[in-house]
Formats: sequence, structure tokens, C-alpha cells
Amino acid sequence: MSAAVTDTARAGAARVAATRLMERCRALAKITEAPGQILRTFLSPAMDDVHRTMGPWMEAAGMVVAIDRAGNLRGLYGRADAPRLLIGSHLDTVPNAGAYDGVLGVLMGLALVEASGEQNYPFAIEVLGFSDEEGTRFGAPFLGSRAVVGELEGGLLECVDSDGVSVAQALRQYATQRPDAVEAKLSDRADAYLEFHIEQGPVLESRNLALGIVEGLAGQSRCNVEFRGVAGHAGTNPMKMRKDALAAAADWMTGAEAITKRFENAVATVGQIAAEPGGVNVIPGVVRCSLDVRHAEDGVRTALVQAIFDEARAVAMRRGLRVEAGQYHEHPAVRLAVELVALAERAVRNTGQATIRMTSGAGHDAMVIAPHVPSAMVFLRNPGGISHHPDESVAKEDVAAAIHMGLCFLDEFAAHESERGDKKRA
Ligand SMILES: [Zn+2]
Repeated sequence: MSAAVTDTARAGAARVAATRLMERCRALAKITEAPGQILRTFLSPAMDDVHRTMGPWMEAAGMVVAIDRAGNLRGLYGRADAPRLLIGSHLDTVPNAGAYDGVLGVLMGLALVEASGEQNYPFAIEVLGFSDEEGTRFGAPFLGSRAVVGELEGGLLECVDSDGVSVAQALRQYATQRPDAVEAKLSDRADAYLEFHIEQGPVLESRNLALGIVEGLAGQSRCNVEFRGVAGHAGTNPMKMRKDALAAAADWMTGAEAITKRFENAVATVGQIAAEPGGVNVIPGVVRCSLDVRHAEDGVRTALVQAIFDEARAVAMRRGLRVEAGQYHEHPAVRLAVELVALAERAVRNTGQATIRMTSGAGHDAMVIAPHVPSAMVFLRNPGGISHHPDESVAKEDVAAAIHMGLCFLDEFAAHESERGDKKRA
């Protein structure tokens, strides 16, 4: 059989698999803990229902299925002692979620196992359905992926949900109810992690591309900026004599926006603002603003945060106000594995499609796994960039493109693993 014929057959198989994957997304979207909307949280009965629904699908594909003690769904296809390719994403959701964020990446793993058929790869495939990525229940994200890399510890275990139950208590209760749960740990044989996810942004759609290759995840800074002016009567204080903290904040925000546009691929957002005393007829005396800054390079992000803080000081000086600005949280940028990223890019090209390299502005499980296992990520076009919303969608043709690409990735990865094996033996 010529390569072209094989590829046509593959494209056809990918289309059939995409139809099934879309049906499965819709079936899982019905499993919720809040009637009328999609909501699934860490260790909830709805997550158990998802496991009960997906488990038999995975077993039918020849996988050995287990739940681990952190509530992650795990399906192994191939020998337990073979090197492993991990394919995963998360099964939990935000409140009032869409049907594809997370779930699609887990079902992609299953679809690739099913579509690869009788291929004899020199590695096993482990599909991972993480129990928590969104942080909806405990306010702390990535609990599922953190557990498998041994980072679910310390202060994280003390986070409490709205009923006052801590992560540690929830995990203990889960373990007693499930004596057959396996240890939440990655295999020492895990050689690579691959995650498919909807883009959650408009870039691929604007470039008319089905798939994008993620080469890194942006680092984040969270900051507070507070302007202190003088509150006063809205009718009796002439404009020239005011120290209006809200007008200063507005001045600063448009300045910050202009500065950020000068830093290529940087994003900065003021998402919260509170003005005091907050009367319709009172000049605002104090204004507190949040500031979220992201970039793929930590040095660029740090420089941008400084430039935005400097702008706040310049505005305050010009207007005769005081300002305080500080960063209270940061997460460094994560670079994905150069070799695997190139391999994923080649896999897209092998299907005859164009692609681009991207930085993810959002956090994903790959961010947690990447420091431990070489990782790659593929984004699927997300119509309108709408996500974390019931209108979230993905086109079946793009899912087919991803499955086709995934099959080519498995071939490329098999060659890569054989080469590594040869090197080890040499
Ligand atoms: Zn997600």
C-alpha cells in the first residue's frame, strides 16, 4: 500500500473517529452536579459518573482502566513495563461550562488508541483524565495533575471548599470509599506527555488554521495597584482643584494598555476595580485595581510589570496623588519540550495541513507535567474563541484533523523512541 493510500485511509478513519468523539463529548456534557448547566468538580459524584461512562469505552478499546487515589481516570493500552506516551487533559469543569474544555483532550487519547488499530508501537499509551484542573471546588487549580507528579502537598492540602472540607479530608474520604484505587503517581516509564485542548482564544480562527502547536505556556504576574487622592463633594470642588483617584486610575489604565502593546505578545488586564467611597455625588478618594500580566518570557513579563508600575507613579505625580503598586503572586513561564514540539509540528505537516507555533496564555495540565515529563500541546480552533461558556464549540472537521495529526504523531514518536532505544544500546 502506498503512503498516499494509507494517508487517505487514515483521513477517513479520523473522520469516523471524530464523529464518535463529538457524540461522546455531548454524552459527557449531560453528566453534571448542577441541573440545567454543566458543572463537575473534584471528587464529586458527577466525576464518578463520568468514570463509569468512560471506563467501559476504554476497556472496549483494549485498555486496562483504573482510578487513582486523587480521582484521576487512567487507561493503559499496551504492556505495563513498556515506555509510555501519556495523552491526557481534565474531566472537571468551571460552573456553567461548555462541552469540550478538558474532556476533548481525554477523549482524543481514547480516539487515538481506537484509530491506531493493530499498530505495534514500541511504547504503551496511557490516557489520563485529570480530576481537577479548573480549581472550581477548592479555589486551587491542577489538583489532579499535581497529585501524579507528587506536588499535591503542603498548604494545598489545607484549602477548604464551601462546606469547610479540606483537600486532605476529601482525599482521605475518597480513599476509604475506593479501596481499589491505585497510587496517584506517574510511571517511571513515562517518556512523553501530549495534551490536546481547544484554544480558548481567537488566534487559530483568525489565521484560518485547524491546529496550532503550543511551544510554551505564559508566565503570570498578579498585582494590586492602589491610587489615593482626596474624596470630596461632586458639586463644590472645581475640576482644577481635585485629586480624583478614579480619574487617575483611568488615566493609568489607558497608559498601561498603550505600554503593553509595545511589548510583543504580552497581555495585561485590569479586571477588578473598586472606588471609595462609591457615592454618585462624591469624588472618589481611593481606587484599588487588580493587574494581571502574562508573557512567554519571564524577563519580558517582569520588565512590563515594572513599566506599568512606573506609569502608575508618573500619573500619580502628574495629578498630585499617592500610589502603591505591588505583585502578590507569580507563576513562571513553562517551555514545552523542543524535540516533542518539533515532532508535533511535523505530524501536522505530514497530514498536509499548515500550522503555527503558539504560546498558551491560559494554564493547562501540561504546565504541571512539563517539568517532570517532556510535554507537547496541540490547540484546536475554537469558533469565536468562546470558552468556559455553554456556547463553547469545536468543528468536527477540526477534531478529525487533530485525530489524523495524532496518528502521524504516534508514527513519529515510534521512530523517536526506536532512535532513543538505539542510542541507549549503543
Ligand atoms: Zn481546560
